[in-house]
Amino acid sequence: MTAVGYIDTYYANTLGSDKIYPELGENIYTDVCVVGGGLAGLNTALGLIQRGKSVALVEAKRIGWGASGRNAGFVAKGYAADEASLLKKLGIEKARKLVTLTQNARKLIRRRIEDFHIDCGPIIEGVLTVSWKDNPQDVKAYVKETNDNFDTGFEFWPRDKVREHCKTDKYFDAVFSPQDYQFHPLRYVHGIARVLAEKGGRLFENSPALSVTRSGGGWHVKTAKGSVHAQHVVLCCSIYLDGLDRRLANASFPVQTYIMVTRPVDEQLLKSSINTRHAVSDTRFCSDYYRRLEGNRVLWGGRVALWANPSDISGMMMQDMLKVYPQLKGHVQPEFQWSGLLCYAPHKMPQLGRIEEGYWYNTGFGGHGLSPTTVGGELIASAIAEGDDSYKAFEPFGIGYAGGKMGRYAAQLVYLWWRARDYLDA
Ligand SMILES: Cc1cc2nc3c(=O)[nH]c(=O)nc-3n(C[C@H](O)[C@H](O)[C@H](O)COP(=O)(O)OP(=O)(O)OC[C@H]3O[C@@H](n4cnc5c(N)ncnc54)[C@H](O)[C@@H]3O)c2cc1C
Repeated sequence: MTAVGYIDTYYANTLGSDKIYPELGENIYTDVCVVGGGLAGLNTALGLIQRGKSVALVEAKRIGWGASGRNAGFVAKGYAADEASLLKKLGIEKARKLVTLTQNARKLIRRRIEDFHIDCGPIIEGVLTVSWKDNPQDVKAYVKETNDNFDTGFEFWPRDKVREHCKTDKYFDAVFSPQDYQFHPLRYVHGIARVLAEKGGRLFENSPALSVTRSGGGWHVKTAKGSVHAQHVVLCCSIYLDGLDRRLANASFPVQTYIMVTRPVDEQLLKSSINTRHAVSDTRFCSDYYRRLEGNRVLWGGRVALWANPSDISGMMMQDMLKVYPQLKGHVQPEFQWSGLLCYAPHKMPQLGRIEEGYWYNTGFGGHGLSPTTVGGELIASAIAEGDDSYKAFEPFGIGYAGGKMGRYAAQLVYLWWRARDYLDA
């Protein structure tokens, strides 16, 4: 059964025990008010509580209702912007510093799962990024260069090995990242929320922040039935900002992506197709991403769009899956399908920092947010609680203008252009 207040995803149907937090119905005082209960908000709140601050978090719907509770569950290093673009923009030292933050975050998530007994498994290590092109030298060079520059621990997998795991002639060689892993994201979200509440954090669901205004030396966050007075406020609203802050709203645009989860698939059939427990994606610009779930289901995600939400998501995902694994035709039935919104700035990097005294933001994680939201949470928390200015490493990726509607049209055209190139390449 779908947990109350979530859209109908596989995750909301397999959440297990669900804790519903109250709606804010009074005026409260706290050190920090976090707005938004996705992983950006939850990680910020946890980082603050662990550094001795009192925190109230207000979430418009349910915690993890947005992308954080409906993603593919790949916990990987890096950002939506790739290492090559970071290197080009920042040079090796600064780029390495940013990538290392996500490698540490990937470890911190693992530690939190263990220390706080968060039941979000099975945790399966390894993400395989396969090439649709017959270009082993390029893949080898990429592995070497990325390992040399960023100490990523990547392995080069030759096509024979790739095709043992993925029984398709579409794929050639691959990059294997043994330190990345997969988990159940909505259960992780709930685990972090539980820890926050246990440590004295106050969480409020179904409590959209309607306005944020200056009040004395601090900030006043108003909801329909209450308000939070705080020294600091941190906006972690992703793309759902509405009228809350025009500067942040103008700095990014929404991108949709899609997921389908199948009914259980015959074990032998999986052995002759997706014969791997590692998570898989590919090197095309518009890549597929997928993994096997418990009970021999397959989670298949892919494509992006800037506007319409198609009615037949599973039809599109099935089409993409059968292109890679035609042997599954007629044997696989979709059971769940959903879309989710990603928040992208044109530079594809997270946006985190301070706009005014006591007024912070932590957003813009795009399609690569599980490790980076942990980075953002830690940096903003240590900035507020300890005056640490490490968050300034993200200053080169500020909150510029994303181009409004024209920016979205341009991004859609770029996507279509790359999709056409992927098609021609394949
Ligand atoms: C289909 C899909 C697959 C993905 N796969 C992966 C993956 O495998 N690995 C990976 O690393 N990343 C993945 N991502 C990206 C990742 O999920 C996101 O980058 C990350 O979850 C963003 O977290 P967030 O907290 O910024 O945003 P969200 O999780 O969207 O949270 C924002 C929250 O703010 C709340 N909010 C907004 N406005 C207000 C307000 N006024 N008052 C109160 N609350 C408000 C919203 O209700 C929402 O809950 C995927 C995303 C999608 C959609």
